Amino acid sequence: MKRYLVVLVAFFVTILTVIAVFTWQNNQNSSQSSEKDLVVVTTIFPLYDIVRAVGGDNVRVSMLIPPGVEIHHFEPTPSDIISISKSDVFIYLGDYLEPWAQDVVQPLNKDANQILAAGQTITLLEGAKLHENEEDEHEEDVEHEDEHEHEQDPHVWLDFENTATMTTIIADRLSILDPDNASSYRANAGAHRAKLQALDETYKQTLSTCQSNTIIYGGHYAFGYLANRYGLSYMAAQGFSPDAEPIATDIALLARQIKDNNIRYVFYEKLESERIAMTLTKETGATLLALQAAHNISAKDLDKGTTFIDMMNDNLSNLRTGLSCTYE
Ligand SMILES: [Zn+2]
Repeated sequence: MKRYLVVLVAFFVTILTVIAVFTWQNNQNSSQSSEKDLVVVTTIFPLYDIVRAVGGDNVRVSMLIPPGVEIHHFEPTPSDIISISKSDVFIYLGDYLEPWAQDVVQPLNKDANQILAAGQTITLLEGAKLHENEEDEHEEDVEHEDEHEHEQDPHVWLDFENTATMTTIIADRLSILDPDNASSYRANAGAHRAKLQALDETYKQTLSTCQSNTIIYGGHYAFGYLANRYGLSYMAAQGFSPDAEPIATDIALLARQIKDNNIRYVFYEKLESERIAMTLTKETGATLLALQAAHNISAKDLDKGTTFIDMMNDNLSNLRTGLSCTYE
């Protein structure tokens, strides 16, 4: 009887040992595979969205700027700098949007492949030149011309061809850092570019059938690229970043435009103050419609997996209403 008991105990000990070893090996494997993932830190949502689409399961991507936060005045905290230093690659837009980035990355001892300014007008990659917003297209903007002269419009992602170019730049860089998955990055980038091209086509078709071609915007000057691409005229209450308080004459000028041209809708940015836009609607009887520049995303939409293209489709639906377009 005693012998049976010993055998039985030995049997269970063996089983438990096998289970324990198996579990340990599994843990080892899973931690090894997650260690193999590229860790990518991006600054703004449009870049995060591209990396998510291109990287798929092979990258762990995060946004440095928290959801819902205004990005133009962002300054990194010490823990942000630690996140950047621990990442395999840090991707930001460029000096005109994140002037702090150069100062942060220089002392980190990262090699050139680990830092990527994806929206810089001219990158090291041949042919990857982003569209620039033409200065003379700003004539209609009520913001003071001299302020624009020395500034570069940072909202390059609102020209979808630029977003497609940045997709290629990012896929190339991920392929250099992780050659084993290069074919996956390139294939995903191709699929993402195709979606952006289809979006651009729908914008072109829709926005060529509108009764009005003027976007009156109660926020800062974010949609210059978009207006330029589709031949619209665009008037914003503020300059390239949302800091400057609009002056009363600017508001009065916009209000007069709305009245003179019988404009029925005023657009505004969801994550920004609606105050200016509401002043305009009060003055003129126009109705408010959201137009998202997608600098950032709300925490709720980020959890839902909302994409940049989803946001742009919402925008087009509101533009169709606001500009009285007939294309369905
Ligand atoms: Zn902006």
